Amino acid sequence: MTKVFTVAIDGPAAAGKGTISRAVAARFAFAHLDTGVLYRAVGVKGGDPVVVARGLSAEDLVRGDLRSLEAGQAASRVAAIPEVRAALLEFQRRFARRAGGAVLDGRDIGTVICPEAEVKLYVTASAEVRARRRWLELGGEDAPKPYEVVLAELHERDARDMARAEAPLKPAADAVVIDTSEMGIEAAVAAAVERVAAGLAMSGRIDAPGE
Ligand code: C5P
Repeated sequence: MTKVFTVAIDGPAAAGKGTISRAVAARFAFAHLDTGVLYRAVGVKGGDPVVVARGLSAEDLVRGDLRSLEAGQAASRVAAIPEVRAALLEFQRRFARRAGGAVLDGRDIGTVICPEAEVKLYVTASAEVRARRRWLELGGEDAPKPYEVVLAELHERDARDMARAEAPLKPAADAVVIDTSEMGIEAAVAAAVERVAAGLAMSGRIDAPGE
């Protein structure tokens, strides 16, 4: 069984982090935490975000409205508040270092939550490609918003996430960058899996059978 082994996957919205994280977790039987859900849950709940973050419950994390564009914007606003981030830190750190291996995806996993992560990936793509993916997910021509609006909102969220003083979005110095702008998702998953397999082999974290 694999001991402590953390895969940190950071990057901007709609770059493919979620798909890659789920695939890596499934491939290596690691636990997976989509840390954006924590900030989304705080953002949509309303009230004082610091109080909400300190008292977040399991039910808050499974609300049906967490995936909306509005929830994403609300998340990025509360995510700039240092006390909100502090309230969510310990849970993420413990998750990252649990026995059996963990994949966490977010914005600051490799830089702040788990700088000691054995593998760090920074998954990105051009804003236009990411906005088009989001817009297609929303229904393309039938989407509630035109592509231009989705793109403008994505730019706004990127700017807020990258410019904030506390844990801004940026690649860790030792992160491997995977740019999915012109890469199919299968190729991106394969690149990530290859990197994690190499990290596992290097770290000697796989116990000998019977251990
Ligand atoms: O990844 P997702 O789109 O669900 O994230 C929503 C927002 O939550 C991000 O735009 C970002 O502001 C915030 N976030 C963060 N740190 C993380 C994960 C998400 O600040 N680790």
